[in-house]
Amino acid sequence: MTRLAGKTALITGAARGIGLAFAQAYVAEGARVAIADIDIARARDAAAGIGDAAIAVEMDVTRQDSIDAAVAATVDQLGGIDILVNNAAIFTAAPIAEITRDDFARTFDINVAGTLFTLQAVAKHMIDRGQGGKIINMASQAGRRGESLVAVYCATKAAVISLTQSAGLNLIEHGINVNAIAPGVVDGEHWDGVDAFFAKYEGKAPGQKKKEVGEAVPFGRMGTAQDLTGMAVFLASDDADYIVAQTYNVDGGNWMS
Ligand code: NAD
Repeated sequence: MTRLAGKTALITGAARGIGLAFAQAYVAEGARVAIADIDIARARDAAAGIGDAAIAVEMDVTRQDSIDAAVAATVDQLGGIDILVNNAAIFTAAPIAEITRDDFARTFDINVAGTLFTLQAVAKHMIDRGQGGKIINMASQAGRRGESLVAVYCATKAAVISLTQSAGLNLIEHGINVNAIAPGVVDGEHWDGVDAFFAKYEGKAPGQKKKEVGEAVPFGRMGTAQDLTGMAVFLASDDADYIVAQTYNVDGGNWMS
C-alpha cells in the first residue's frame, strides 16, 4: 500500500462523501492530503479522523482569493502539490420551466468555474515546480447524457468532461496528467437532497427514488464512495503516466443500461 508514498494531494470538497473516501485511500497509500472544503469545521473533523497525514484547508472554489489561499496553504504545509482532485460540486435539479438564472449561475460557478480555476491554480504551481503532477476531475454519468429534471447539473458535468480533454491535451507537455472519473449513482449525504427533490417532483415516498435507482444498476446496487477509490488511486499514481485527457466510468454498468 505505497503507491502514493511521498506524494501530496489537495482534494476539494473532501470534508465528506467521495472526497473524504479519496483522502483516506490516498493516506493509506502513503500520501499526505489537504482536505479542502467550504465547510471548514467538518474538514477539520475529517482531517483529525485521518491523523497526522491530513490537514484541513478552508476553500470556496467560487472565489479566486480563496482558491489561491488554499493552494498556498497546502504548498506551505505539505511542501508542494503532486495530486489535485477537483471534487467539490453541488447537485441541483428542476424541470426546464423552473430553472432560474441564479441556480444556473451558482451550479456552473461551483461545478465548472470552480473546477477550471482550481485546476489552473494548481497547474501553475506544478509547472513552476517542474515535477509534473496528476489532476483528477470528478465528472458523472450525468455528463454523458442528459437526464429529465437535471438539465443544469448534467450540463456542468458535460463541461467537466470537455475541460478534462482540453486541459489534458494542454498540460501533458509539462508532465501533468489530467483525467476524470465519471461515477454512476453513489450513496451518501449527497443523495438526501436528490431523494427529496424527486419526492417533490415525482411524488415518490422518501427513499423510494434512491431504492429504484439502486435496483436499476446492472451491478445490482448503488455505488459506494469506496467503489471509486481504486480508480482514484490508480489515476494519481505513476501507473497512469501515459493516460491523458480521459474520463473513466466507474458506475456498475449504469451508463450503458
Ligand atoms: P457531497 O455533496 O457529499 O460533498 C460535496 C462537498 O463539496 C461537501 O463537503 C461540500 O461542503 C463541498 N462544497 C460545496 N460547495 C463548495 C465550494 N464552493 N467550495 C468548496 N467546497 C464545496 O458530494 P459527493 O456525493 O461526495 O460527490 C463528490 C463528487 O462526485 C461531486 O463532484 C459530484 O458531482 C460527483 N458525483 C457524485 C455522485 C453521487 O451519486 N454521489 C455521482 C456522480 C458524480
